Amino acid sequence: MHVVGGPYSHLPPPAQYSLPLLESRQESPTVMTFRFSTEGTGFRHLSNQFVRLALPGVDDPWGAVRSFSLSSSPTEQGSIAITARISNTPFKRALAALRPGETAIVYGPLGALLFDSERPAVFLAGGIGITPLRGMIRFARDSSFPHPIRLLYSARTPEELVFRSELDALAREMPKLKVDYSITRPGEARTPWTGRVGRISQTWVAASARDLDRPRFYVCGLPEMVRDLVQILRGGLNVPAHDIRFEIFRGF
Ligand SMILES: Cc1cc2nc3c(=O)[nH]c(=O)nc-3n(C[C@H](O)[C@H](O)[C@H](O)COP(=O)(O)OP(=O)(O)OC[C@H]3O[C@@H](n4cnc5c(N)ncnc54)[C@H](O)[C@@H]3O)c2cc1C
Repeated sequence: MHVVGGPYSHLPPPAQYSLPLLESRQESPTVMTFRFSTEGTGFRHLSNQFVRLALPGVDDPWGAVRSFSLSSSPTEQGSIAITARISNTPFKRALAALRPGETAIVYGPLGALLFDSERPAVFLAGGIGITPLRGMIRFARDSSFPHPIRLLYSARTPEELVFRSELDALAREMPKLKVDYSITRPGEARTPWTGRVGRISQTWVAASARDLDRPRFYVCGLPEMVRDLVQILRGGLNVPAHDIRFEIFRGF
């Protein structure tokens, strides 16, 4: 139900859309991006909301619907993208097999993990939690966001750092964007890694945000990671609750 009035009344109202796939792309050994056309549908969203995506007819014990953050920015007109970890469930197998022109039922936009255009941003991403943050960074670039952005992004192995080459290219293009990576399971890496190792820590966050004026913190990932980082921000670094925005990827 879309509530009229109240704190979320500026959000675009969610509705159901039938969207054809434009293209799919392998991002890493286990992650794929799917871009759907929104041309002529009236679908609009803010940076960075999520959708519920249904593949009717898929016989999956947990149903034929999953939530996905948009990995695209509202400035990428005419299409939206989602980026999903492809497990071996019937739903994910059907998603991976979707061909250009075939449609998905998309309900949205949903959620209020919204990018604040007025304040510096510190993005903390764990694994597949990078998806809405990639959308926000694209939005920041396309809207000439004037403030500093720091991205701390950890994944198990270098291969699982989704969007790494695109993020590196954006950092070269955007002087105020700084991107740093960390790997939590270097022993499982298949490509050499000489960079940072370990989870996103209080010391690392504090050092990255030290010179920023009242930044907003955005945390995205699996429940345990989001819980730990919100605790670090609130308890360890005394960040006010209203300066922390987070999205929890439940369901893995
Ligand atoms: C706001 C939001 C944004 C998200 N964004 C992304 C994204 O960008 N990319 C991405 O890959 N994923 C994202 N997810 C997670 C996504 O919705 C799926 O849950 C996830 O991809 C796992 O689906 P699956 O088919 O691989 O696994 P499954 O294991 O089949 O899980 C699918 C469903 O089954 C339920 N389930 C499974 N096992 C149990 C159990 N033992 N007890 C109770 N319930 C169970 C889960 O709750 C889930 O709803 C997001 C989730 C949320 C809530």
